[in-house]
Amino acid sequence: MKVLVADDSPISRHLLEVSLSSSGYETQIVADGAEALRVLEQKESPKLVILDWMMPNMDGVEVCRAIKKRAAEPYVYIILLTAKGHQEEINEGLEAGADDYITKPFDLQELKARLRVGKRILELHEQLVSQATRDSLTSLLNRSAILEVLQKELIRSVREKTPVAAIMTDLDHFKHVNDTYGHLAGDAVLREAARRLSASLRVYDSVGRYGGEEFLVVAPSCGAAGGADVAERLRESISGAPIDTSGHAIVVTMSFGVAATCDIKQVNQLLRMADDALYAAKKAGRNRVEVNSEIGG
Ligand SMILES: [Mg+2]
Repeated sequence: MKVLVADDSPISRHLLEVSLSSSGYETQIVADGAEALRVLEQKESPKLVILDWMMPNMDGVEVCRAIKKRAAEPYVYIILLTAKGHQEEINEGLEAGADDYITKPFDLQELKARLRVGKRILELHEQLVSQATRDSLTSLLNRSAILEVLQKELIRSVREKTPVAAIMTDLDHFKHVNDTYGHLAGDAVLREAARRLSASLRVYDSVGRYGGEEFLVVAPSCGAAGGADVAERLRESISGAPIDTSGHAIVVTMSFGVAATCDIKQVNQLLRMADDALYAAKKAGRNRVEVNSEIGG
């Protein structure tokens, strides 16, 4: 786990760096609070932060407040470093959003123990977030999480005047799979289909389990034609090889409905259009991609 350390004292920085590295932590060290905030604004920034209280420009408590003012996710666990006996500072720090504190000069064993607590809490937090946003069978985003992605992308597409495509897809004759091979095989098919869909997407696309055997793909910066290309690639990834469940190689196909826009603000409106296209794909014989051409993009 990566730890960000902000401390204006070179000796303290060195000591922390050596201690943390020897305990197996990857470290990122900065000399003041403003720099710490800049680091935390970057992607994949550390979630575990040690902040010195006394620093020029922006002190530890100000940094705490700034961190806690941001979006709730990702959660950042903050340990404040403070001088011994400054109880008011400690209270103020905890009030400002620090999760824990250590008094200087710190005891190495205590620091390590406190870091382990932080790590444990961050891991628990991650588990909770994952339980709330992931579908337990396929590990894809669940319905509410993928709808939230679509909502955000729609807002962005209207603001930036770039299109976004919604692709609704559904396993063909899935009831037949369940009836013929049983529900365990059905679950295995869903898991493998989900894995293939994820593996075939571009990095900035998202996919979620929308309902039983229905999935929703959100493809930013895609008009109708781009969305159809994405869907076609997904279709091939599913139909290209049978899915092995214990004892059976099951041939599976999916139908796809694509709708793209850069001026619709309502999630439901775009979904309805993608759904209509999916219905058309089913009606036209399944294992195919249909585009809703009512809207351009
Ligand atoms: Mg200091």
